[in-house]
Amino acid sequence: MEALADHTIVFTGLKDGQHQFDWVLGQDFFDAAHEEEFHGGQVRVDLTLDKSAVLLVANLHVSGTVNTTCDHCAAALDLPVEGKQRQIFQLHGDPDQDDEELVVLDPKAHSINLTHYIYECLRLALPARHVHAPGQCDPEVDAALGKLRVEHEPVPDPRWDALNQLKQQRP
Ligand SMILES: [Zn+2]
Repeated sequence: MEALADHTIVFTGLKDGQHQFDWVLGQDFFDAAHEEEFHGGQVRVDLTLDKSAVLLVANLHVSGTVNTTCDHCAAALDLPVEGKQRQIFQLHGDPDQDDEELVVLDPKAHSINLTHYIYECLRLALPARHVHAPGQCDPEVDAALGKLRVEHEPVPDPRWDALNQLKQQRP
């Protein structure tokens, strides 16, 4: 997802040591994510940033709820979410050694943006299947799904219907 200005941290002005940041992901964030499956949410992000002469270690923690749709009954579903992720940035490294675990920053960089990592942390914390707790699905939809299954039983071929009608019309 695109970087949001809110999640930019200018690290050049920070002293070595631990720094705390927090954000609340609301409608703006979920709109910017352009994911049809997420309608919104309220997720708190806590970041502990450890700065040293050579590294920035970002420990992210997300917790809250994400508004989505139930895979079973298609009704609104508020999914609780809680997860952690660590991302390490190297300040003066070899850019060729850049990998998923360790991001090597441009020597001229003075800020990092965390939108991508926050989003990744959130995605990884969500279950693959989004369903209500047992018995919590929309009862009307549940009943309709049951009815649908019954109605899906073999339907007579309409041509036979027409033939039957013809037969019935005979004297
Ligand atoms: Zn459901």
